[in-house]
Amino acid sequence: MPNAIPQARAWNVSNAFWITLVHIVALIAIPFFTWGRLGLALFGLLVLAPLGINVGYHRLLTHRSFTAPRWLRNTLVTIGALIGGGPPHSLGREPSNPPSLH
Ligand SMILES: [Zn+2]
Repeated sequence: MPNAIPQARAWNVSNAFWITLVHIVALIAIPFFTWGRLGLALFGLLVLAPLGINVGYHRLLTHRSFTAPRWLRNTLVTIGALIGGGPPHSLGREPSNPPSLH
């Protein structure tokens, strides 16, 4: 009979830290709200995060889906690192080191 109770998952300390930090900063930012700052936050969330994480870290570094000039690769990876993607060297480059972004 299969185990009906799912096993507890270990805490990912890095993810817990980032999620906690984002929520603390969001609470601190409430008194400083303006529509312009909201637009800036949405730009980061809807433009920079997908560029850095989805395009730079995932498609470019993890899967090597495309080639890019050095300046573009460095820009995408830098954005991904600043968004909180972790160190880029941790992504799989060798068959024995599977990609971590899935
Ligand atoms: Zn993938």
